[in-house]
Amino acid sequence: MAQQLEAEQALHERFGHREFREGQQEAVEAALAGQDLVIVMPTGGGKSLCYQLPAILQPGFALVVSPLIALMKDQVDQLQRKGVAAATVHSGSSVAEKRQVLQDLTEGRLQILLVAPERFRHPRFLPFLQQVRPSRLVVDEAHCISQWGHDFRPDYRRLGDVVEALQVPVSALTATATPAVRRDVAEQLRLRSPREIVTGFDRPNLSFEVLEVAELRDKPEATERLLAEIDGTRLVYAATRKNVEQLANQLGTAGCRVDAYHAGLPESQRTAVQDAFMGDELDVLVATNAFGMGVDKPDVRLVLHYDLPGSLEAYYQEAGRAGRDGKPARCVLLRHGGDYRLQRFFLENANPSPQVVDFVYQQLRERAGDHSVSIEELAAQSNAKEGALRTAVRMLARHGVVTLTGDDVLFEGDIDGDSPVDGGYLGAKLRADEERLSRIWSYAKSVRGCRFERIRRYFVTEIGTPCGNCDSCRQGAATATALGPEDLARVRAVLDVIAGLGFPHGPHRIAQILAGSEEVSAAAQALESWGTFRGASLAGIRELVDFLVDQGLLLQEPFVSSDGHRRGSVLELAELGQAVLAGAPCALPSVPDPTTSRAGSRRSSSRRDRSKASSPPPPAGDVDQELRERLRAFRTRLAKDSGRPPYTFFADSTLDHLAAQPPRTRDAFLATPGLGEKRWDSFGAELLREIGGGDAEETSAGST
Ligand code: ADP
Ligand code: ZN
Repeated sequence: MAQQLEAEQALHERFGHREFREGQQEAVEAALAGQDLVIVMPTGGGKSLCYQLPAILQPGFALVVSPLIALMKDQVDQLQRKGVAAATVHSGSSVAEKRQVLQDLTEGRLQILLVAPERFRHPRFLPFLQQVRPSRLVVDEAHCISQWGHDFRPDYRRLGDVVEALQVPVSALTATATPAVRRDVAEQLRLRSPREIVTGFDRPNLSFEVLEVAELRDKPEATERLLAEIDGTRLVYAATRKNVEQLANQLGTAGCRVDAYHAGLPESQRTAVQDAFMGDELDVLVATNAFGMGVDKPDVRLVLHYDLPGSLEAYYQEAGRAGRDGKPARCVLLRHGGDYRLQRFFLENANPSPQVVDFVYQQLRERAGDHSVSIEELAAQSNAKEGALRTAVRMLARHGVVTLTGDDVLFEGDIDGDSPVDGGYLGAKLRADEERLSRIWSYAKSVRGCRFERIRRYFVTEIGTPCGNCDSCRQGAATATALGPEDLARVRAVLDVIAGLGFPHGPHRIAQILAGSEEVSAAAQALESWGTFRGASLAGIRELVDFLVDQGLLLQEPFVSSDGHRRGSVLELAELGQAVLAGAPCALPSVPDPTTSRAGSRRSSSRRDRSKASSPPPPAGDVDQELRERLRAFRTRLAKDSGRPPYTFFADSTLDHLAAQPPRTRDAFLATPGLGEKRWDSFGAELLREIGGGDAEETSAGST
């Protein structure tokens, strides 16, 4: 009680705030009680107060680990202005400054010390801390510790050992963490039954919208039209520096005050642009994702994404810069089919194969006697993409093997032993990046259900109510209601099949099982929900399955074959789907009913409109005509040998699938529309041999 009053008093007197914001009081009290904390609040939500206030009320000092040296100085200045004894040591501090800070710590004069995680590379830092013992360790941007997070930093990994060595309570702070990342953060930091405080995801003043553009060249015009609809400061995010500059130029000639911001501009110019933006001298700022960290302008009325971002985390963080003042603001995402490919390209550059990382490491090792080497020199030695090489170098730099200055790699001490970047990490990162991309893409593509709910479920998982404010809500398309028994039974049947199969299958196969097809495996036929929708069209069942993906109960992920080419997709239960299967209540907009749906007659995507009710959808890739002819001949041979008509082996539509995405394994064969167990037994192996006769062996030949 006394503590509570003390906290409120400090809030008024030291920080000048009238009252706590959501979550702050709880966080402050838990910190004063010595609990471990995971605090998830949106940027600008007021996370800093959650550790600053306890730090000044408690004896000793709080140690704050933060990734941005550039922001640390500002933070220290701000704190000092509030009368808080704060300091920082970082790679740019002079010897005298460092000595002063260490002395202040030893003599108990500091309340907050800010450091970057790299500080713990210095072998003497941790033992020193053990002597002076902080009252609490605060980890800012804590998602950086998780390799499932979108911004993993190896130096953060050391913090688990720091927690272990110091044995002090910990606060982990982040603005963006999915439940999986939160769990990982708590685990990596070895937190003891941490209290989770998650707030501020509901931003009722924001209206989320997706605007599809048919052609890439329509984007600038769509942008101009949108910008013209809105007054006040508008922020446009584009994915590349080139797009930023082109768009800024074009908008500039259209007579509005516009400027560009990206990491390729000189520091002085970036600062000037940021100041102009903050000072209301710009109508429109066009920027890459380099813009925004630490920028807090309350009256941004529109955040427009000209290109698809790489994840929902990134999207929500950037879009969330709109309407900080609580007044209505719009968050619009332009969508074009090519956007996925651009992000896929980024993803590949950001995920060099283990072979590429090893190659770079060996090259650096061989040249360790030299003073420096450039990326171009490395590129000349390899057929790997320059982007991938650059990432590999950056990864090694993050692990402290080398230092980067511009495009040059400088050597730091001896390079010895095996590369510190292992294949397990690279694989996990690739999978996590792919999952993130598929989630933002399905957000962009979804045509049903509250858009904001989709974002919320990604971070918070439990079901909320539609926002009433997004494009989809406003179209009245979505009014989620608690499901009645029949709707629920249909939803459960789909979830049940997916849960019962053991390993992930594609949507077409799931639909076949639900339709009671005998072409599916014996195990699938043994499932209780096999044949639930007997008599319904596969397309009608697909509509229900797609709906559950749209609604966030299922995850649809690209299925990547061993040779790295994308081959369709597979379905898994999302956390929400698992919960519903386990009996959690479920509210959804009207659930499609495959037994009454004549697919094609409903509002459905053009892909489904084109397909006939009962035939599988056309293949995703290009049909290899040469292979198609070969397989048709193969089918003719089967027919002759058996005396049965060719179509009884497989249909022409299956032929298309085979020629577009030739299966090379039994599983891939079974995943091909129109093929199943019985057909596998009858001619599966022969078919694979026929396909393999072409180009089967030229897989994974160092093509990164
Ligand atoms: P975060 O770290 O979550 O991005 P900050 O801690 O930097 O956010 O806080 C963002 C802004 O909100 C700051 O300007 C801060 O002064 C202000 N703020 C924090 N807590 C309160 C409060 N209880 N009342 C009013 N303003 C607050
Ligand atoms: Zn909505």
